[in-house]
Amino acid sequence: MGNIALAIHGGAGPDSEFVRRNVDRYKQGLQEAATAGYDFLKSGGSALDAVELVVNILENNPIFNAGRGASLNNKGEVDMNASIMNGRDLKAGAVAMIRNVKNPISLARNVMEDTRHVFMAGKGAIDFAKTRQALMMPDSYFITEHRFNDYLQLNQQETEQDLLQKRIQGTVGCVAVDVNGNLAAATSTGGLTNALEGRIGDSCIIGAGTYANNQTCAVSGTGDGELLIRGVVAHSISSLIEFTGCTLQEACDNTVFERCKEFKGDIGVIAVDPKGNIAITYNTERMHRAWAGVDGNVEVRVYGDEG
Ligand code: ASP
Repeated sequence: MGNIALAIHGGAGPDSEFVRRNVDRYKQGLQEAATAGYDFLKSGGSALDAVELVVNILENNPIFNAGRGASLNNKGEVDMNASIMNGRDLKAGAVAMIRNVKNPISLARNVMEDTRHVFMAGKGAIDFAKTRQALMMPDSYFITEHRFNDYLQLNQQETEQDLLQKRIQGTVGCVAVDVNGNLAAATSTGGLTNALEGRIGDSCIIGAGTYANNQTCAVSGTGDGELLIRGVVAHSISSLIEFTGCTLQEACDNTVFERCKEFKGDIGVIAVDPKGNIAITYNTERMHRAWAGVDGNVEVRVYGDEG
């Protein structure tokens, strides 16, 4: 039996007054989700089920930007993206432009398991959700006061330059390795506040925001989605391990700090490898994160090493 390990994130980005005020709520949400996922792995659960379970918990928690509490686009609407990947057989499922589906990550898994496709978007994906008996919720379920205020604040910025200075992000993700050495990754998001309607970020793009391969690692990313897409971040980390034999931590650090350094934007990643190693790398002021590895302790952080 191999080492089990799990890491989760609730987004990376600039610090804010809201984050500082709600740091305990964030930590509590991370602690609950990571503990549930780790206990599930400990009882012999699969990595794939664990990452879906954890992301469901985070999607249901309104403090995080995924599912309930998702951010609003420039029309004041919620559009959600999610993806999941199974490291054992490289199967993957992804959904974009999702509305009213309570748990987009479970819909991504439905796409992976119940269709011959990998990626579905918009009306077709939402109609498909209904055939899978996915729980559907009214718009009011998703829109929280905090996200609405973010939207009002950013929607008044006039230029693209102003908007670049004032990014409000978040996203949730989970990576895990189970007792059988199988890896999985899952990521779910409401995207960027005030993004142009129709914008799709990295979280639902296999290889950018999500990747899992039993031979190398499982990765979930967060930050400026455009940069994670251009840097093909999650797959780059896997390829570095595959082609150079470097460690998981080296691959994450190299990708975020070297390969993507010209981008000058926000990137954070969590990753696990088949031996149960965990790596977390971010170039931002904060990254909401938690992990549990060989020693079984759940560690939670928002800023540096505050414990
Ligand atoms: N990467 C996400 C996106 O661009 C946002 C985030 O992680 O904060 O949609």
